[in-house]
Amino acid sequence: MTKTLASILALDQWGIGLNPLSQKLIIAGPCSAESSQQLMQTALGLEGSGHQILRAGIWKPRTRPGSFEGVGDVALPWLRAAGEATKKLTTVEVANPRHLQQALIHGVDIIWVGARTTVNPFAVQELADAMTGIDVPVLVKNPVNPDLNLWIGALERFYQAGVRRLGAIHRGFSTYGDTEYRNRPNWEIPLELKRQFPDLPLLCDPSHICGRRDTLQFVAQKSMDLNFDGLMLECHVDPDRALSDAAQQLKPDSFKGLMAKLVIRKMADGDQSVEEALQEMRSRIDQMDRQSLSLLASRMEVVRDIGDFKRKHDITIYQAERWDSVRKDRMQQGKSLGLSESFLGLYCDNILRESIRHQTRVMNGSIEAFIDPLSEK
Ligand code: PEP
Ligand code: MN
Repeated sequence: MTKTLASILALDQWGIGLNPLSQKLIIAGPCSAESSQQLMQTALGLEGSGHQILRAGIWKPRTRPGSFEGVGDVALPWLRAAGEATKKLTTVEVANPRHLQQALIHGVDIIWVGARTTVNPFAVQELADAMTGIDVPVLVKNPVNPDLNLWIGALERFYQAGVRRLGAIHRGFSTYGDTEYRNRPNWEIPLELKRQFPDLPLLCDPSHICGRRDTLQFVAQKSMDLNFDGLMLECHVDPDRALSDAAQQLKPDSFKGLMAKLVIRKMADGDQSVEEALQEMRSRIDQMDRQSLSLLASRMEVVRDIGDFKRKHDITIYQAERWDSVRKDRMQQGKSLGLSESFLGLYCDNILRESIRHQTRVMNGSIEAFIDPLSEK
């Protein structure tokens, strides 16, 4: 694939300050602007916490009608006043070109696109078209569903409209039913985004991932350890009475506490002996990975021999009982070795898939006729 977001500007070239201690971009503020006092008091309460940007939702995309849907345009002057009083930049969610136009007229410094907008390429394209020729940074939240390409597609639409100060916000992915998280983090998805586009600033929004206050510190720390470039956190002067997302918002003082406890680890250590020790451990891992892969390849060789044997004796490839006992045994051994059940499940499923692929080739000479037995699970 061509490198589509080729000349994205790194955060330190955005011309906005970063947190002096961590060099991260920190965004804080209420889920929703509710009144001029609530916004101003929250902004004043946040002073000294090390954030650079004040956020507030003004047009709220809610799951059900009748929930608080934001106060609308009237809050734009409140946001500007709170930003000016505390010398912070401001950011707001926009979902259509009219929101964008109003936000820009009222001097909003940074635009963000919400998860429910990113899912819709029509809506994103309309916004991107409206951004043509406007040099204002845009942050794009991931779509509600775990679809990396949809997220990349939204970023590309803004990039093609000329936006170069472009960033992504990871806010987790929606799942049906109760889980530990409001929106599952599926960290591999934002990390794959970062792998494909290393220059693209990537922030984490622990508030919408957690949906509750008590796990925010953990998720915020995890994102810092994964080298995210910043955080967006919801803060409210009186969270319990917030009109939206009450359970996940932090009082300004608790936000300061969270920030103070964050440990920002460095990418590399200047000390040569530390670097060498790390290098040595990494080369052990490299060697083990190579050994694991050649062991897996040898396993598949035996699998093919069995396939040949089965073909000669007209025996079916998949024998449920045998696989059931293999799976149970490997799961048990893996667990006793400290590996997680979810990893072991994926491992076993993939080993089975690959083994069947090899045997099918031996037995039928091609994989075309092969229907993946696990795909319907
Ligand atoms: C928000 O930031 O308040 C919001 C609605 O977020 P998301 O788009 O991630 O649901
Ligand atoms: Mn919210």
